[in-house]
Amino acid sequence: MVVRDLYGRALRNLRISVTDRCNLRCAYCMPEEEYVWLPREELLHFEEIGRLVDVFVALGVDKVRLTGGEPLLRRDLPRLIRILAAKPGLRDLAITTNGVLLADQAVALRGAGLHRVTVSLDTLRPARFTALTRRDTHAQVLEGIAAVTRAGFTSTKLDMVVMRGVNDDELADLIEFARTVPAEVRFIEYMDVGGATRWSMDKVVGRAEMLERLERHYGTITPVAEESTAPADRYRLADGTVFGIIASTTAPFCSDCDRSRLTADGMWYLCLYAQQGTDLRGPLRAGADDEALASLIRPGWQERRDRGAEARLALRDRSPLVEVARLKQDPHLEMHTRGG
Ligand code: SF4
Repeated sequence: MVVRDLYGRALRNLRISVTDRCNLRCAYCMPEEEYVWLPREELLHFEEIGRLVDVFVALGVDKVRLTGGEPLLRRDLPRLIRILAAKPGLRDLAITTNGVLLADQAVALRGAGLHRVTVSLDTLRPARFTALTRRDTHAQVLEGIAAVTRAGFTSTKLDMVVMRGVNDDELADLIEFARTVPAEVRFIEYMDVGGATRWSMDKVVGRAEMLERLERHYGTITPVAEESTAPADRYRLADGTVFGIIASTTAPFCSDCDRSRLTADGMWYLCLYAQQGTDLRGPLRAGADDEALASLIRPGWQERRDRGAEARLALRDRSPLVEVARLKQDPHLEMHTRGG
């Protein structure tokens, strides 16, 4: 079944946040010291996530990405992966992690049936990592990345949020590092989503500028021609190395966005920028059957008109999306709650 929204975009891709907690405090995501956390008793159990995924798969979802917060903080995550990997309708099951706990868990994740791993790696410099994340765990992240390859994963990705004056001098360094993993780099434009309370346009390094800098270093760069709803545009260096750029701030890709998001406590959001979500945990715990849950999800998607990043791009005076005080009242507005 294919369920389409008002712009004809299919429901295919579900990002599931399994916890809102994180063991880093990255400046672009969790810049504050204190946060309001989701109550533990409200977090979906693994079996509940499995039930909801069954309903989403029946409606056309075939790609699931586990996110957080930091998903590896969720106890016994391989058990959830085993539940999801057994679902025949899912053709892609991936995780995005900050890598801190990966070295210990990579083998178990692979054994449980996880297909792919994406690691956030914003810098190769330990002191810079500590300044950016306010934690001293850079070596653990690098060990985690090595462990992913040793565990047998392929198609690994390294995501770097590029910020002017912070890490924008490391573009080529990251490409060189990724070759050794091996992994594919994706440079992500700094976004003004909830949580990014210190965002400003002058800190954004746009796709055009990234390409210009990389061309100066590597010579001609060619776009990779492909049909895909993936957020990254991919490019090839003369030696064949491929990397991606996610131009979510300067060239949003809302027009073919097939992603929705489920928070760890069962709120379903149609867009990274959405201010309102649909509570699926309440009906699930009240005993709703699969058809009753589908009857919440199907019309929700069919009425979807979200194009959050495009709407932000159209604003003349662009400041952070949500003020700190409002974020503190409603943790669902945070990027770390809805899985980035
Ligand atoms: S801003 Fe919203 S609609 Fe646009 S790509 Fe991101 S999640 Fe999709």
